[in-house]
Formats: sequence, C-alpha cells, structure tokens
Amino acid sequence: MERKEETAAKFHALVLIFPLQGHINPMLQFSKRLAARGIKVTVVTTNSINLPVESRSNLIKFESIPEISNQEGEKDEKQTDNDRIDVFLKKIEAEVLEHLPMIFERKAAAGEPVKVLVYDSVMPYAFDIAQKQGILGAAFFTQSCTVCAIYHHIHQGTLKVPLEEPNSSLPSVPIILESKDLPSFIYETGSYPALLRLVLYQNLNFKKADWLFFNSFDSLEHEAISWMASQYPMIKAIGPTVPSMYLDKQLQDDKAYGLSLFKPDTEACLKWLDSKAVGSVVYASFGSLANLGEEQMEEIARGLTNSQCYFLWVVRASEESKLPSNFKSEGEEKGLIVNWCPQLEVLAHQSVGCFLTHCGWNSTLEALSLGVPMVAMPQWTDQPTNAKCIVDLWKTGVQVKACEGVMRKEEIKMAIKEVMVGEKSVELKKNATWWKELAKKAMIEGGSSDKNIEQFVSSFLST
Ligand code: UDP
Repeated sequence: MERKEETAAKFHALVLIFPLQGHINPMLQFSKRLAARGIKVTVVTTNSINLPVESRSNLIKFESIPEISNQEGEKDEKQTDNDRIDVFLKKIEAEVLEHLPMIFERKAAAGEPVKVLVYDSVMPYAFDIAQKQGILGAAFFTQSCTVCAIYHHIHQGTLKVPLEEPNSSLPSVPIILESKDLPSFIYETGSYPALLRLVLYQNLNFKKADWLFFNSFDSLEHEAISWMASQYPMIKAIGPTVPSMYLDKQLQDDKAYGLSLFKPDTEACLKWLDSKAVGSVVYASFGSLANLGEEQMEEIARGLTNSQCYFLWVVRASEESKLPSNFKSEGEEKGLIVNWCPQLEVLAHQSVGCFLTHCGWNSTLEALSLGVPMVAMPQWTDQPTNAKCIVDLWKTGVQVKACEGVMRKEEIKMAIKEVMVGEKSVELKKNATWWKELAKKAMIEGGSSDKNIEQFVSSFLST
C-alpha cells in the first residue's frame, strides 16, 4: 500500500492570495502548514509582489499573475480614495479571471494537476473558475469569525444599522455592541462603498465553497464559530497562523511569515530592545495600510513621550512626513522609530510590555498568541470590533476613546500607564498569558485547529 506521505506529495493545492500584507501573512503560513503535511503547494498572487522562487522545504512554489497595465495612465486627481480602491479591486478581479484558468491548465499539462484551490474569501469569483475545472474550493477568511458573522447578519438583513437600541447583542457575539463597535464600512455607511461591497461579497462563499477556513481558534471565538458552523458546517478554525516556534519553544521553524512587502529594520530593532529592561517597552504600530492624520500622529507622539515609557514605533516611510518636526531626533532618548519591524520577533521579545495597536486582525491574533497586553487604537474596517473584543471579551487590553474623531495624548498616556504599570496591568497580563496558552493548545498536535487542518488534508487523501 502506498505510504500516506507519498499520496500527500501527489496532492497539489493552489493557494490564491489577495496582494495585501494582512492577507499574505496568514495564507502563506497556512500554506506552510499544508506543506508540512507533505502536500505540494503553489502560492499564487499578483506580480506587484516580489515572490521568492520556492520555499526552503521545496514543497511550496510561487507563481504570479501578470498585472494588467493601468489603463488610466496618469493619476486622476478627481478620483476619490474609494474610486481608486474600486479600480484596484476590479483590476485584480480581471487579472484573476484571465490568468487563473491558464495556471490550472499549465499545471495539468505539466503532470501536476491542482486538486484544491484555497482562495482568499474576498475573491469568491475564483471559486467559479475552480468549479469549472472540476476542482474543490476552500475560502480562507483573514478577518475574525465574529466580524464575518456581523457582515453575515447585515447581508441577511437580520442586523439593521444604526442599531435600534443603544446597545444590542447578536446571537453569534457574546458581548454588547454599540453602533460604533461595528466594522467601519457598516457604521460609517457611505465611507467606502467599494470596500463594503467587497466584505459583503464574501457571503457568496458560505453557500458555495467546499470548506470555509477562519484564522482563529475555537476557544477564542467559541460563540461566533459555533453559531456560524450551525449555519454552515464547513466552517473550520485553523489558526492562529503564527509560526509554530512562537507558540511552542521546542519548535524551530521560521521566525517570520516569509513574504514581506516592506523591508524590516530587524537589526536596529532587536539591538535596541536587547538594551531595555524586561517589560519596559511599548511597541506601537498601525499596520500596513492605516493612514493617520497629522493631528493624530502628533497626539500619539506626545502620548508616547508623556507616558515616560520606552517606545518602539513603526511609522511607514509613506507616513513619516506626518511626524511632528524634529520628533524623530527629540524622541531618541526614549524611543526608536522605524519604517517596518519584524513584528513577531518584537512581540516575542522580553522587553516588550504592551502593544499599542490599530487592532488589525493579524496584529490582534499575534498579540494574543504571544501573550502581549494591548492598548487598542482602532482606525477603520474590522478594527473597532476587534478592539471591543480585546477589551470586553478577551480582557487583554484597554481602548483609547476618541474625542471628535481624534484620540488625545492624555488618553493615550493614561491607557499606556494602565496596561504597563496600573492596578489592572496584572490582570491584563494574566489574561494575555491565558490566551497564549490556549493558542498553543489549539495548534499543537491534537489541538482543535490542528485537527481541522488534519481533517482537511485527510479528506482528499482518502478520495
Ligand atoms: N507587520 C510587520 N511589521 C510591522 C508591522 C506589521 O511584520 O512593522 C505585520 C504584522 O505582524 C501582521 C501584518 O503585518 O502580520 C499586519 O496585518 P494586520 O492584519 O495586523 O493589519 P493590516 O496591515 O492588514 O492593517
């Protein structure tokens, strides 16, 4: 009888990733988990991304979809941000529709036919291509299950916005939500219609995909996952997609996800962190997309300095001009500002005492999995809901309240103090350590997420 590993190596999965950092990291890590089980994986994304040729294991190969040249040529100044996003989304859809069938055909002709497509849930059109080729399809959601449940309620008309009551609870969400805690595209209707369409479009996956994967774990989002699974049994939590070495010190796998759109200042960050005392540093980052106003940047700069704590602040190169003048050199004594950092290594560093975060889903999961308490400063999209869960459901952080749309320096300073040294800090740290343990439990052999991945792999090996 053929050995299981040999059967696995003949099985070819194609993983189609939307070209944004917050989508690349979890899907690439999931690809590595499939490859670790012996499955051949081809990762596909657009060629705006500098792809490696293949991974260390040789089991992951990379392919890019050529980009359609921008028909518009010169940047149209009359275009709003929403218009630009709309053009970008349509471009990606057109690229995938044109090139994905060719990739499937090429692989089949090369004697490596693709048997399953794992595709980013914001590209449900990819599933139709897979279906035409007679291939199975698994949608991969890069947001929390709670957020997807909210989008689902909106899509089904079971949740009306603004919420009728000042407070409202949903069957899948075990905490009281106010309108402002909902994802921004819903709460601020009309802000980004193209993105609202995109997130609601994900609902098409629920009925058609063969599997629905969430980057989460059962104990973290128990209510949302079980409610959603009661409606759609193919829902499986397969996270956190954090490299295993951070969850279990015995494991010596990758220190990074492996495909970064930004160049991290690794040496400077780690050297600086090494020189600081245990738990003394505030790590601040707003992820790969957030676009903060100058006034907000100034409030953050002053809040960090006034907290008297050491801080490592990631300010992307495109945002640097918004820093208060001279702040970079003035703040040198207490802080280090870099354009990008190796976030996992930073969060895992013993000097880091808290994470001042925009609450992107990856950052949230990484902080929970590495046991780091948070100061939540959500900006847009799913971040307000993630922040609410951090504070009220997982109880590992505090949220900075906004005043007329801006989070002020006093509030930021107080929140940092509360998490770093205040009475509450002990409880927050204890809870963070608890989630770290549960994240590990989900991913180690026999854990809930590990079993779900194993079940996925076994299901096609038995066919
Ligand atoms: N990240 C990083 N270095 C940084 C900032 C962020 O490696 O300096 C990574 C982070 O670990 C996470 C991703 O970028 O995996 C950001 O994803 P998230 O969902 O948190 O936010 P987004 O960028 O999508 O808003």
